[in-house]
Formats: sequence, C-alpha cells, structure tokens
Amino acid sequence: MPVKQAEFLISNSEPDKCPAPDRPEYAFIGRSNVGKSSLINMLTGRSSLAKISGKPGKTQLINHFIIDNEWYLVDLPGYGYAQVSKSDREKFAGLIDGYLTSRPNLLCIFVLVDARIAPQKKDLDFMSNLGERGLPFVIVFTKTEKHSPTKLQNTLDTYRAKLLEEWEEAPQFFVTSAITAAGREDILSFIRPLNEG
Ligand code: GDP
Repeated sequence: MPVKQAEFLISNSEPDKCPAPDRPEYAFIGRSNVGKSSLINMLTGRSSLAKISGKPGKTQLINHFIIDNEWYLVDLPGYGYAQVSKSDREKFAGLIDGYLTSRPNLLCIFVLVDARIAPQKKDLDFMSNLGERGLPFVIVFTKTEKHSPTKLQNTLDTYRAKLLEEWEEAPQFFVTSAITAAGREDILSFIRPLNEG
C-alpha cells in the first residue's frame, strides 16, 4: 500500500528538540551522496520531500517527517564527508550519537550503502557501533539498477561475508533503486507490521 500522506515536520540540530516520541520512528542514514533523499522521495511517492542535491554534505540537520499520521521518518545527516572540517565532522557525529541515544520510539535504522561501491570502513564501523549498542538496523543498497543481477549478488555476498566476520547473523538487506522504485514495497511492508507492534 503506498504512502497516503507525508509531511515535513521539523529540522533541528538538537536531539532534545525532536518531536515527542509518541509514534514509531525509523531513521535513514548513510554517507553523503548515497541516494538518501532520492530514496525518501521514492518511498513516500513525493518528488521533493527530501532535498536531492548533487552537492555532498548538505543535510546537516535531523529532519522529521510524519507519514500517514502514523510514524516518523527521520532523515539524518550524512556521515563521513571528506570535504568538511574535522571539527564539523565531530559535531555531526555528536549530533547523530545524541539522536540515536535519545529516541525510545526508534524502531529501526536504515543504513544506506551504494551498491556500486565495495564495503567501506566508515559504513562498517557505523554498523558495528549500532550493533554494539543493540540498536536495530537493516542495510539498504541504493542505485542497484546500475548493476547486473550477478554483480549485485556479488556485492550482497561480499557485504554479508564482511558482516559475518563480526556478527553471528547479518542484518536484513533491502535492494532498492530510486529510478525504478525497486524495494519500495519491501521497505514499507517491513515498517507496517513493526508499527503495529
Ligand atoms: P543524498 O546526498 O544521500 O541525499 O543523495 P541524493 O538523493 O541527493 O542522490 C545523490 C546522487 O545520486 C544524485 O545525483 C541522484 O540523482 C543519484 N541517485 C540517487 N538514487 C539513485 C538511484 O537509485 N539510481 C541512480 N542511478 N542514481 C541515483
């Protein structure tokens, strides 16, 4: 079932100013330029809910959206841009950390990775950190229409093998494309039952 209503609520730089944690919440995060804005627009069926920018490092705030008056979708700042200063990177890391530790209603974190790029230390470190803190996450592969099925399968297998070096089980994977809308129903069908608790 497609999203009926999607509205922007608030952007902020302080986790304690986020909306009251009165609905299930799902956060989307990934390295800058991974395709996060495109994925959010694709999922919600809105062409410009989240800003799509060719310029890395634009989304530096915690952005809350309310979906179907039922759940919060959160667009988190991209991590790991090379272009910003170390002190800014630390500031974003602190912001993300503050957010992740202050939302009792956060049911799942969608960690986006570009299917065209080999597993990166920054992404794996971020996932390790979530796992160590017991925060539930899944992996969303973006831009997958750029790959042949064989190449895509290789990417998924490489990721799985990398994750299994550290964990007994790999998190759930979603294969998506903002161009073809692949993965939309998979992600929305995953979210709905969690909402029902
Ligand atoms: P963000 O910085 O993570 O929010 O990434 P954007 O959504 O702004 O996308 C970054 C770039 O990747 C843009 O040029 C998008 O057009 C492109 N892009 C995003 N999603 C896809 C996709 O599914 N397939 C392809 N081929 N390009 C994509």
